[in-house]
Amino acid sequence: MIAEVFVDIPAAPVDRAFDYLVPEDWIGTLQIGMRVTVPFGTTRRLGFVTQLKTETAFEHLKALDALIDPQPVLTDELLNLGRWLADTTLCPTVAAYQAMLPAVMKAEYRKQLIILDEARLTHDFPELQRVFAGVAPEWETLVKEAPQLLKSLQKALNEKVIIVRQVVKNQAKIKELPACRPAVPKEKLHAALEALDARSQRQKDVLAFFEQHASDTYIALKELTGMHQLSRTAIHRLCEKGLLELGKIEAKRDPYAGKARNQTHKLPLTQEQRAALTPIDTAITQEESRVFLCHGVTGSGKTEIYLQAIEHVITSGKQAIVLVPEIALTPQMVERFKRRFGEAVAVLHSGLSKGEKFDEWRKIRNGQVSVAVGARSAVFAPFQKLGLIIIDEEHESSYKQEDQPRYHARDVAVHRARQHHCPVVLGSATPSLESFARSQKKVYTLLTLKERFNHHPLPPVSIVDMREEMRSGNHTVFSGTLFEKLKERFVRNEQTVLFLNRRGFSTFVMCRSCGTVIKCPHCDISLTYHREGNLLKCHYCGYQQQVPETCPSCGSDSLRYFGTGTQKVEAELARLLPEARVIRMDVDTTRRKGGHEKLLRAFGDQQADILLGTQMIAKGLDFPKVTLVGVLAADSMLHLPDFRASEKTFQLLTQVSGRAGRHDLPGEVIIQTYTPEHYAVVDASQHDYLRFYQEEMQIRYRRGYPPFYYLVLINLTHPEPAKAAEAAERIAAALRRHLSPDALIYGPVVPAIARIKDRYRYQCMVKYKRESALLPLLRKINSHFRETGKNGLQLSIDLNPVVLM
Ligand code: ADP
Ligand code: ZN
Ligand code: ZN
Repeated sequence: MIAEVFVDIPAAPVDRAFDYLVPEDWIGTLQIGMRVTVPFGTTRRLGFVTQLKTETAFEHLKALDALIDPQPVLTDELLNLGRWLADTTLCPTVAAYQAMLPAVMKAEYRKQLIILDEARLTHDFPELQRVFAGVAPEWETLVKEAPQLLKSLQKALNEKVIIVRQVVKNQAKIKELPACRPAVPKEKLHAALEALDARSQRQKDVLAFFEQHASDTYIALKELTGMHQLSRTAIHRLCEKGLLELGKIEAKRDPYAGKARNQTHKLPLTQEQRAALTPIDTAITQEESRVFLCHGVTGSGKTEIYLQAIEHVITSGKQAIVLVPEIALTPQMVERFKRRFGEAVAVLHSGLSKGEKFDEWRKIRNGQVSVAVGARSAVFAPFQKLGLIIIDEEHESSYKQEDQPRYHARDVAVHRARQHHCPVVLGSATPSLESFARSQKKVYTLLTLKERFNHHPLPPVSIVDMREEMRSGNHTVFSGTLFEKLKERFVRNEQTVLFLNRRGFSTFVMCRSCGTVIKCPHCDISLTYHREGNLLKCHYCGYQQQVPETCPSCGSDSLRYFGTGTQKVEAELARLLPEARVIRMDVDTTRRKGGHEKLLRAFGDQQADILLGTQMIAKGLDFPKVTLVGVLAADSMLHLPDFRASEKTFQLLTQVSGRAGRHDLPGEVIIQTYTPEHYAVVDASQHDYLRFYQEEMQIRYRRGYPPFYYLVLINLTHPEPAKAAEAAERIAAALRRHLSPDALIYGPVVPAIARIKDRYRYQCMVKYKRESALLPLLRKINSHFRETGKNGLQLSIDLNPVVLM
């Protein structure tokens, strides 16, 4: 029998499976979807078996080396999905397969040292004898533990006394606990119990316990000594007597276990909620792969709709996937699913250890759970009978993976739903323009929730013009209005959330007296400050200019490189309102595992008056005592060199505003800005998604951006700028030659970050509507590059990019 195997070779010239002989003993056991190791050249690599057959066109096949999995890790559906991903995102198939599995199941390669010439080793390298005694040592270990031997090792390698063999390490280990069980029938246990005298009371306790619980299953020692308070010594004595036997059981690392939780139950739905749930229920019952866009204001009860739809899926014997953005940032959301469905939920997120993630994944693979809640990659949860996929906050950019495979979870969800004949629900208070446009064209079914479930109005939003604050001599980050309200809340013992977008580090240049941001004359996108050469550059067309001395529009000399960090604000709060207790939440304060959750809990328990944070506090928070939300600088995201800057601003402002007054206390929102007239700011302040959508669509239309055009971004990097530029030039030329005149081809240009890790970057961008020649051409560029492109060049092709810098 022959196996087709996709082998993990990162720089393979071609993306195809290789044939290997299946060892006789494995026939009947080996199945497609299992991982194996295979000899490849002089090394051992990890591979995925994708096909079993009896014929091959090749001679002298090598045999498979080792079988890693007892059961397939990829289902047939996922194997096909991997091919589809490879095809549509232009990545190697094996990269797609690895992306579907928990990180811990990725291959880790080690270099094992093997003796070739025993006699010479003894004679010429006596110092090495000890490390080779009875073992094949690993290079990685020796580097760490015996650096003094490296010179000799290298010499021995050069002289072919020893050789290096690549081995694949399987990191995915099941954690086991010592356990024990009766070794004899119940009657014998009883007899032994009777025979013991009173001095052996502790052994009697153990025997009595097992007499009651007599069964063949092992019980963890930890449980016996802990929960049942039995003596460990007594247990061991009884094992020695042959009455009990020791063994192992699998330890489940359930990061959510042990938390006391009140189960929640179905809530009676509002009319709007019911109207939204009904068509979803119908699609579940009728097995239609329809896509719903659930557009509901913050607090309208979308999550309750998800919960009830999932309940329907579970009762019909199927499974559901729920995607949430960067799950570590939304602990409250995860908790709601856990509280409704308890043990039926597996949670996959970046805050878990590798082992924990592996265990959660196996619960899904083994069918022990019916719901998977997780970030982007949970879209690959290996369920067999999917009944529903939900993507909450569907507009979030974290659903797009920036590394190979560059997939968007939404596209994968829609594709999987088609295979499983199940609906997809995209939910958001501020849908992406792409999705809303599709709902307008009836590609997606729109479900609208206009009201908060409790009919509380959305909080009133005031816009504060920071230019006037400037003019009246206020140089702090707080406007008079915001500071007054902040103090008010403090006095009333209510809480405030202050939001500062950190993404806007000092990238754009703005005039502090008139609010003018210096933009590209050709692109209507802000220019980015580059310290090198003191230049302002356009990241789209390559235009550049010197930083002017004075504001080109009002002549004042108060041009500033914009950007205030959270730390600076924290310091200012300490100066202005020293009594207030502040919790700062940003990348720096939440780095440790669970740090985010801890800070939020502290704020929820009212251990602080003010929560100050970056966009990580914008999502999903629900605190009854929060009655004021302040946005310190709405502009910081408005002028990023990104055509989605307005959309992101609108989304963020809307989301942040939704944090105020969700319960009984009425809330309000203050937005500070230097551009109070900008439509993204105005529309967000009026909670008017539809108007924003229409205004932004017109601009996208005029500028030729999605959803009117598709984009492809081609990135080239090289340690020498000229090499990257030249390759980009050739690719741009090929695109111009082969694509239709309707396709717009830009570049090569230098991106915002011109150099990353000492590699210089160049980009080409294509805007297009329909280009049948494009994908085949990109594939060709890709494979041509893989064949010849070593020389230090790196190419990446991103279809429908989310990050353009
Ligand atoms: P969204 O996800 O749309 O922002 P949520 O689902 O978080 O809204 O709902 C906001 C709050 O309203 C939550 O505390 C939720 O428990 C509550 N809620 C939602 N629907 C109902 C309902 N039908 N009856 C009572 N409370 C509800
Ligand atoms: Zn000015
Ligand atoms: Zn430009």
